[in-house]
Amino acid sequence: MPDDVSRRMVLAGTSALSAAALLPSPAFAQTSSTSLPARKEFVVRGAHVLTMDDGLGDFAQGDVHVRDGAIVTVGATVNAPGAEVVDGKGMICMPGFVDTHWHHWTTFLRSVMRADDPKKTYFPVTFALGLHYTPEDSYRAVRLGLAEAVSAGITTTHNWAHNVRSPAHADAEVQAMRDGGLRGRFAYGPALGMPNDQPMDLADIARMKRDIANNPMLTLGICSRNIDGNTGGTRGAIDAAMAKKEWTAARDLGLPITLHTSGSGAIKILDDAGLLGPDLQLIHPLNTGPEDWAALAKHGVHYSVSPMGEAGRSGEMQFPELLQNGVKVSISIDNVTAERCDCFGCMHMMQTINRHRTGGKVKITTKQLVRMATLGGAEDLGFDKVTGSLTPGKRADLILVRTTATNMRGMGDAYDALVQLAQPGDVDTVVADGRVLVRKGQFTALDYDKLEADGQQSLAALKAKAKWS
Ligand SMILES: [Zn+2]
Repeated sequence: MPDDVSRRMVLAGTSALSAAALLPSPAFAQTSSTSLPARKEFVVRGAHVLTMDDGLGDFAQGDVHVRDGAIVTVGATVNAPGAEVVDGKGMICMPGFVDTHWHHWTTFLRSVMRADDPKKTYFPVTFALGLHYTPEDSYRAVRLGLAEAVSAGITTTHNWAHNVRSPAHADAEVQAMRDGGLRGRFAYGPALGMPNDQPMDLADIARMKRDIANNPMLTLGICSRNIDGNTGGTRGAIDAAMAKKEWTAARDLGLPITLHTSGSGAIKILDDAGLLGPDLQLIHPLNTGPEDWAALAKHGVHYSVSPMGEAGRSGEMQFPELLQNGVKVSISIDNVTAERCDCFGCMHMMQTINRHRTGGKVKITTKQLVRMATLGGAEDLGFDKVTGSLTPGKRADLILVRTTATNMRGMGDAYDALVQLAQPGDVDTVVADGRVLVRKGQFTALDYDKLEADGQQSLAALKAKAKWS
C-alpha cells in the first residue's frame, strides 16, 4: 500500500471528521496514490533560455530562478544565493508545452487497437469498452495519460472527458489530475452512449465547479456533444436547441466550452444560434470556409489543431487559413491510443503541412509554432496569467530540452531545432508548478510501472465485461 494512502487511512480512522476534508472522494481513498515531489528553490544556469515573453526576449546563455513554485527572475546572470543549481549547459530552457485537447480516459486501450482493422480502430474500441468503465478505470487511464504527457514535456493539459458515466467518474478524473501534478482544465462531458435528447448532468457540473474553485492547478469546462449531425464518432450528436440549453447552463456558471467540428456546417449552426464566443474552443479545423473564419475571428473563438490525427482525415488542414484570418490556434495531442504524444512532432507536421498545402504562401515561423504550443495553448485554456511563458511572477512550468544527442548536436537556431529536430526523448527535466517531476529523463517520484500494471488490470476487466476478443 502506498505510504500516503496508509496515512490517509490512518487519518480517517483517528479523526474522521477532520480527515474527511483531506480525502479524495470515497471511491478513491483506496486507489488514489501520489507523492508529488516537494517544491524546491533552484536556479537553472547557463541554458539557452526561450522565455516566450516578448518583453523579456531570449538569452543565448541565461539563468532562471525558481522559488516557492514561482519564477523569480530570468536573465543573462541571476543572483540566487542558496538556491540549488541546475546545470543548463547544452539545454534549451523553455515553458512547458500546453496541450489543448486530450481524451485521457482512453489511454490504456492502445493494445486493443489495430490500424488496419476497421472494427478495431479508435472509435469502435473506445465505444465498446468505454461503456463498462468504473470510476477506478477512469482514474487509472487519466493517470497514465498524464504520466506520458509529463514525460514528453507537457505541463498543462485539457482533459477532454467525454465519458463521464457518473459523478464518481468525474471525481475520479479530477482526482487523477490532482495526483498527476500537472496544470489543466477538466472538460466535464456526457456519458458515452447516453441518449442525445438527454442533457448532461448539469447539477453535478455545478457541484464540480464548487469542488475545484480556487484551485490554481485546475479549472473546469464542459465538452459538448457534436452539433453538426456527425454521428460517426462516439461523442454523441445533439441539435442546436440542446446545445443552447447545455451551453447556457455552462456559461451561467462561467464555464468555457469545447466542441469537435470535423464536419462542415457546425460553425454556421453555432453562429445562427448565437453560440459563438471567446469562451469556445473548437477542435479539428477541417472543411471550413471563409465565412466560418470571419465568424470565428469576430467572436474570438479558439481552434485546437491535432495534426497527428487530422492529417489522416478527409479535408484540408486549415490552420494556415485560420491564422491568416486572425483566429487563435493552439496544438493538441488528442489521444495516445493511436497517436504519439509528441509536441515537437506536432509542430513539425504543421510546418511541413503548411508548406505542402500553401507552398509557403502563408508564413508561419518556427517561433510562432513554439508559441502556439506554449503561450498560445495557455491563452486558449485561460491559463496565460499563470503559465505559458517564463515571466517572473508566473508559476514555474518549464522544461529543459537536451541539445547534445545526435539528432540535435550542432543545431543552429533554437526554434528551428525544436520544430525540426527535437524529439520527446530529448526532454531532460520537467518542472510543473515548481515541482521537478522529471530529471535526467526519469520520473523523480512517479511509479510508472505501478500505473501501467493497474491500467492493464483495468483493461483486462473491461475486455471481459465487454466480451471483447
Ligand atoms: Zn478529440
